[in-house]
Amino acid sequence: MMRLPKFEYRVPREISEAVKIMAETGPEGQFVAGGTDLYPNMKRRQQMPRTVISVMRVPELNQITGDGKSGVRIGASVTLTDIVEHPIINRDYPVIAYAARTISTPILRNMGTIGGNLLLDTRCNYYDQNYEWRKGINFCLKKDGDVCWVAPGSSKCWAVQSSDLVPVMVAIGAKFRLASTLGERMIDAAGFYNDDGIDYLKKRPDELLVDIHLPPLNGWRASYQKLRRRGAFDFPVLGVAAWIKTDGLANDVVTDARVILGGIAPSPMAVNEAGAALIGQPFDEERIRAAAEAAYVKARPLDNTDFVMNWRKQMTRQFTLRALNALRKE
Ligand SMILES: Cc1cc2nc3c(=O)[nH]c(=O)nc-3n(C[C@H](O)[C@H](O)[C@H](O)COP(=O)(O)OP(=O)(O)OC[C@H]3O[C@@H](n4cnc5c(N)ncnc54)[C@H](O)[C@@H]3O)c2cc1C
Ligand code: SF4
Repeated sequence: MMRLPKFEYRVPREISEAVKIMAETGPEGQFVAGGTDLYPNMKRRQQMPRTVISVMRVPELNQITGDGKSGVRIGASVTLTDIVEHPIINRDYPVIAYAARTISTPILRNMGTIGGNLLLDTRCNYYDQNYEWRKGINFCLKKDGDVCWVAPGSSKCWAVQSSDLVPVMVAIGAKFRLASTLGERMIDAAGFYNDDGIDYLKKRPDELLVDIHLPPLNGWRASYQKLRRRGAFDFPVLGVAAWIKTDGLANDVVTDARVILGGIAPSPMAVNEAGAALIGQPFDEERIRAAAEAAYVKARPLDNTDFVMNWRKQMTRQFTLRALNALRKE
């Protein structure tokens, strides 16, 4: 049985108290929400905070406000179940409710939060193992070792961004609010993730994710497609988020478009060539095929998650087709 290491557990009731505790504990402290990612990591000795600061009892982090007209604010500690069931998210941002519904199982979604999901540790077959297993291969760059077993000549970690909501947030242009004792700042989801499996966030460790701001609906539509082995359970090994705006006229000409790939690299990957294939053109089968081809060409999955990497690359074309076709008007 894997046991948690000893740690002190703090439960602040206000944002100011949470960031103050974090400032006092310094690098020994770490925030926790549902704990569905952090606690397994602690059991595997991948993360070893001495002070764990729960963000679940801060009221401001537990609210959903607004609607599609004004934009919606989702507190970072809102559970995935609450996202899946929320009437306004379902009505105005069905892509978010859908992507959240694909995350793991109902039990995990009852505990896991949207904030924890957006800050999820990157994943790799050589890293998501217990301490003894990792010791057996002399660890790896991401934790305790000095070689990457996926790309042994590389000085970079290629562990994979594996959250279902991340590509969706990037595609729709969400913003995140961060707070620390130094103040607050807003950051675009698109600029929040580093292409580095170790240093994968632009967030400093002392910063608390307060909330997620969804943009108002002004004519855009979005969809998400997820590839995984077991439909009832698994992490994405490819996620495709598609977002378009059209002129709304008879030919449905695309005025803006984004295709974001998740689950194949340390950060969500924007396929600008796919957007370029769509913009200024009628949203038809030919253009959708061109965009899907661009996604296929750009995708370079590595051999560090489930399924053969070449097949995952092939699937990028199929899943981009599906994501874009889901946005076509009848
Ligand atoms: C069996 C299993 C299957 C899973 N399947 C999927 C899946 O299919 N898709 C998917 O996307 N994910 C999956 N997950 C990953 C994860 O459980 C979920 O992403 C979940 O939403 C994480 O939320 P949490 O609140 O439990 O995060 P936690 O474990 O509490 O935190 C995760 C990280 O975020 C930090 N953190 C949390 N909240 C804040 C905050 N407000 N401010 C600053 N830092 C914060 C923590 O310090 C930690 O580093 C799975 C996990 C398991 C165990
Ligand atoms: S990509 Fe390399 S360094 Fe990163 S977790 Fe995997 S084996 Fe370790």
